[in-house]
Amino acid sequence: MIYCRYPSIKVLDLRKLLIHACCGPCLIYPNRVLRENSAITVFFFNPNIHPSVEYARRLETLSSYCRNERLALLVGEYRMEEYFRAVTFHENDRCRNCYRLRLTETACAAANEGYDAFTTTLTVSPYQDHEALQEIGEEVAESTGMPFEYHDFRKGFRQSQETAAEIGMHRQAYCGCVFSERERYEKKLSRLTGDALVRTGR
Ligand code: SF4
Repeated sequence: MIYCRYPSIKVLDLRKLLIHACCGPCLIYPNRVLRENSAITVFFFNPNIHPSVEYARRLETLSSYCRNERLALLVGEYRMEEYFRAVTFHENDRCRNCYRLRLTETACAAANEGYDAFTTTLTVSPYQDHEALQEIGEEVAESTGMPFEYHDFRKGFRQSQETAAEIGMHRQAYCGCVFSERERYEKKLSRLTGDALVRTGR
């Protein structure tokens, strides 16, 4: 499961926290806050990201940020089939299944690697469903025995985005999955198809 690691932290007696990161920019603010009282390791597990070239860009950006910040980084496998299995026939409620998939893998990795708790950078974004993230994080904690920490990092969203722009990080234009990519470009697509769109009625 793990193919990449930057050794970095001096653990001392700090609690060991595994932080699921969806991308580099979203890690900036949680890193600033959490490293004050935790030995943090970053975990990249995002089989939802589409296409592979976008996945590679986000991972590359995150890796370079972790290297500069002397943060340990673990990377899960890119098992995109699992994402599609989790959301098929649940497309309208897909985010909950997407959260569950990523948080469960993070909790399992935290348990296997001897961490004290896990959390996620998803809570930086005001565009994510915080109620669902908290509820699913707690469900996963219950089923895996690995404590989940919910942090409302939304107040650091702007700061993270500004820093990311200043240091030239890749900032994605959509949440991650193919559905969110379609939503992002929906208006443009409908302008392009316009009257030429053929509906078959199926
Ligand atoms: S919109 Fe984002 S959170 Fe929702 S399913 Fe897609 S990638 Fe996952």
